[in-house]
Amino acid sequence: MQYNQITAAGTIAPGPDPAGPTSKDIRNLIETALNSDDFSFSWSGQRHQPYEGILDTGASIIKLYIYAWRIGNGGRKKYPSEKRIQIRDGVDNIGFLRPITATNKTLLLGVYDSPSGTPIFAAWDATANADHTQKSCQVQVEELQAAITEGIHKCNDSRGNTIYTFMPNFLGNYIDLVSAGNVFVIPASTTGTLATKVKEATLPNKKKRTIKSVQKLLQQIQNLSSTEKEALVKQRIGQGLFKDLLKNKYHCKCALCGIQTEKMLIGSHIKRWKDSSDAEKLDENNGLLLCAHHDALFDKHLISFEDNGDLIVSTTLTASEQKELQIAAIPPILVSPGMKPYLAEHRSKLK
Ligand SMILES: [Zn+2]
Repeated sequence: MQYNQITAAGTIAPGPDPAGPTSKDIRNLIETALNSDDFSFSWSGQRHQPYEGILDTGASIIKLYIYAWRIGNGGRKKYPSEKRIQIRDGVDNIGFLRPITATNKTLLLGVYDSPSGTPIFAAWDATANADHTQKSCQVQVEELQAAITEGIHKCNDSRGNTIYTFMPNFLGNYIDLVSAGNVFVIPASTTGTLATKVKEATLPNKKKRTIKSVQKLLQQIQNLSSTEKEALVKQRIGQGLFKDLLKNKYHCKCALCGIQTEKMLIGSHIKRWKDSSDAEKLDENNGLLLCAHHDALFDKHLISFEDNGDLIVSTTLTASEQKELQIAAIPPILVSPGMKPYLAEHRSKLK
C-alpha cells in the first residue's frame, strides 16, 4: 500500500515514503535555519535526544532542548494521509521535564523530506506530549502541504493539541513566539495571514538582532575609518532589513524619481546609523527608499528637505552641477510627523 505524499509539483498523490532526512540532515537543517535571518545558533549537545543548543534571538539567549525525528508514514492503512514521528522509549526526558519559559524552551519537531523541494517542519506541543513513552505524534500530509503555500500553518492532532507546520525560514520565528503550553503570543493588532502576523509579531526582535549583528560586524572591522564603516553599514542594512521596511512604505519605488529597478534601490538613513539610538536605527520614519543616484546626493548632504517636504539644495553645488545632476527634477516629498526630527538632524548637516 502506498501512502499519500507531497509530489515534486507540491500536490498530493500516493507514492513512496521519502527516504530521508537522516538525523544528521535534520540537525544540519535546524542549524542552517537558525543561523539565517540574523539569528545566531550553536549546538551545545547533539549526541542524543534531546539535542541541546543556544539561540540568540537578538532580544534574548534561549536554551533549547530539541527532540526531532523524520516524519514517516503512519503505518495505519485506514489513514493514507497520516504521517508521524515516533517518540522512542528511552529518550532522555530532561527537556520534557523542564518548564517552557522565555529563555528555556523544549521543541518537539518532525521533518518531512518533501519531494517538492524544501523540507517541511511540524512542531507539536512539547508540554502536552511530555508523557512520551513510545508515543507517536501524528500530522496529516495535507497539513504539511499547507505550509508550502502559507509559510506557517496551524492545525490540530487527533488529540486536539495544536500543531504548527512551517517552512524552515519560520523555525526561528516559531521558537521566538512559542511559550508555555504552546501558546503563541501574537499581538491583537497584527492582521493578515498567520505568516504575516508571525513576521509582524517577531519584527521587534528581528530589529534587535539585526542591530546586534551589525555591531558585531563593526567590531570585526575596528581598524577601518568611520567613513568605511558607515559604507559597510549602508551596504548591510540599506540592502537588508531597513530596505525591506522602506520598500513597503514607498511601494518599491525611489521616493524622488520613481525608479523601480530593485538593484538600484537603497534604504537610506536620514539620521546616520552611528548617530541613531537603537530604536532609531531601524525606524521607518528615519529612512527614504532612494535610487543610487538620489541616495548619493542625500547621503552626502548635498540635498535635504524642509518639514513641508520642499527640496533644499546645498550651496556647494554650482548651477551647472545642479543641471547635470538633474536637481530641478526632484519633487517635494511627503513628510510624516515621525520624520520631522530626523529631517531636522539631516538639514543641520547640509553642506
Ligand atoms: Zn531616484
